[in-house]
This record gives sequence, C-alpha cells and structure tokens, in this order.
Amino acid sequence: MPMTKTIEEITIPSSSLGNDRKIAVIRYGKPVSNKKVYIQAGLHADEPPGFVVMHYLLKLLDQADKAGKINQQIVLVPVANPIGLSQWENNRIQGRFEQFNGVNFNRAYPDLTDKVASKIKTKLQQSSKKNLELIRRAQLACLNKIDTADEGDFLKKTLLTLAADADICLDLHCDYEACLHIYMGTPLWPDASDLVAQMGSKVTLLAKKSGGDPFDEACSKIWWELAERFPDYPIPNGCLSATVELRGGRDVSHENGSKDAKNIYHFMVRRGYIKGKAPALPRVPRAATPLAAVEHVKTTTAGVVIFTKQIGESVNKGDVIAEIINPIAKSSSERVKKVRCRTDGILFTKIPDRYAKPNRLIAKIAGKKPLKDKGDHLLTAR
Ligand SMILES: [Zn+2]
Repeated sequence: MPMTKTIEEITIPSSSLGNDRKIAVIRYGKPVSNKKVYIQAGLHADEPPGFVVMHYLLKLLDQADKAGKINQQIVLVPVANPIGLSQWENNRIQGRFEQFNGVNFNRAYPDLTDKVASKIKTKLQQSSKKNLELIRRAQLACLNKIDTADEGDFLKKTLLTLAADADICLDLHCDYEACLHIYMGTPLWPDASDLVAQMGSKVTLLAKKSGGDPFDEACSKIWWELAERFPDYPIPNGCLSATVELRGGRDVSHENGSKDAKNIYHFMVRRGYIKGKAPALPRVPRAATPLAAVEHVKTTTAGVVIFTKQIGESVNKGDVIAEIINPIAKSSSERVKKVRCRTDGILFTKIPDRYAKPNRLIAKIAGKKPLKDKGDHLLTAR
C-alpha cells in the first residue's frame, strides 16, 4: 500500500534576526477524508510526557499506514511549542510562559464566537451537517484574518488553524505531580466517556467556560455557544476537544508513553479513524465532575510542606492534607501548622517542590459539588 504520511514544516516568522523556528506537522490519511483527529504535545514546552507518547504513537501510526489501515485524517504536531523549548534560565527549561511578555502559552486563545456568528447568521440551514461545514469554513476565514503581532501569537493562530476543522482534538500536557486527568467542556460529557475510560483518567473535569481561554476550549466552546445563540437551527458539538494531563512532569517512562499511545490509538480505532478491532472498553474509573468543584488547597504561612495524603487518595472535608514545618517558630506546637481540605474528593495534583508561603496553591482536590467562592476563573492563572 502507498504510504499516506506527509511531513510539513511551518516556519514561525522570527522576532529576532536569524532565529527562525519551525513547527513540524505530520499527517496521515487522505486530506479529503470526512473526519479528522488533531493531536499536539508540548504546548507547555516544559511538560515532557507528551513527547514520549508522540514517539510511540508515530510508531503505531506508521505501521497502520503501511498496512493501509488509516481511514480518516490524523494530524500530529509532536512538538507544538519550539519557542518555549528554546527558553532556558539557570539551566532549567521555562516552557509555560513566553519569556518576553509573560503570557501563558495555553491561555488567551482567540474567542471567535461573535465573529463567526455574524458570518453565519443568515446562512444557517435545517441540516446539522451543512451547519457544521458552514461554521468550520467561517472559523477558518476568521482565523485567517487575525494579524499576529509576535511569535507567540503566530504559534497560537497556527495551532488553532490546524485544529479548527478537527472532529477530535487532544492537547497533551502534564501537571507537576499528578495522576492522569482530563479537562473538557461540560457539553462533551458523556459522549467523550470512551476517551476517559480508554485513557484510564482518574479525574475528569468539566467546564462550559473555564475563564482562561485555553487551547482545548478554543476548539470546542464555539460550538455550544453558537447552538445557544441560534436555537432554531441544528448545530452539533463539532469538536471533541480535551486537555489530557499525562500525570506529573517526572512520570516520563517507556511504560507510560507506550501505554498512553496505545490507548489513544485504541480510542481512534473505536471511533472509526483506523481499521481494526479495539479491545473491550475499560470502565470509566470515576465519573466526570465540575471544574468548579476543584478545591485549590492553599497554605497560609511560610515553611516546608510535608504531604500527609497521596496522589489519587480519597479525602474527606477537614482531613489534614499537609503539615507546614517552621523550625524557627517559638514553641514546638507552633512549629507545625496543619493544612486541612474543605471538600470531599480526590487529591489529584501536588506542587513539584516542598516550599510553602502565604496563599500558595500546594494541591488540588476534585470534589463533586461546585464550590461557592470559585468565581469566573476556574483554571490557575499561572
Ligand atoms: Zn500544561
């Protein structure tokens, strides 16, 4: 069988002379296919597990391509953020924020709902399929018109353009110390429960609007916003988009990379993108819960953190999550301050180091009921 694989290199216009960077885009399947999966890794460039998953996924897809098994279009961007990968400080990579302006590479994606709505308002039909095509064309036209001021803007526009007409979009990330968990839009649940089950996601967090305009939401939120705006027309959820957090930044191994790549592959087989028989679908480890129910456990004093609960452990309201040790406090009782949680749930992330200071987020707990004081910004600002 002739291979369908192609590799394109997109050059990011340089902000400094002689410093062109490139985004490699690997495509499988016929470009005229009905459906498209888009997967990227390393948007936060200091989160390495996704790169290993890409290594194993490429192996599996090369084999499938050789055997003529790829039914639809599969697009991979294995290294999504060459800007972040070039940012080193004190011998450590700094890939989360663009260094010259401090902007998070996974926030502030363009919200195109208003622009697309004005383009399509007189053209919608009573056909979900036609509306899907119409909205995708309008999205791509709006993206095309965006002027990019710098490399970071160009990167965001390029990645979003590659993903905008995809039916499935997976953005591979990781946390500091964590179990595998997934973020996605509330309207995508339970349709996406096969992804959650196959990946073995212990915590799945849903929000209709997280407040930070991350990449996954830029691909999916527009669909339910347009459906709400035009209730007389059938508008589907055109993109199953999710941020997959591949445990913690140090959970980099052949075992994890190979397992996660196989799970993504099986998910694509089950969804009809690749010929073959997927194994029996595992059960969903835990039903999805609202992102607004995530407690950010914060410290109130300076000191050193000793965690008393493990990642993945169930906790109850009032449990001691950590102790803060201050060796220069006056009495032995003052030298240890207990940090208690305010909600029942699962402890799913911890900070990478063990230092506390007032108002520092040291762990997250996925509860079931939205917390009262969450406000509109549900993701961490930093
Ligand atoms: Zn990330």
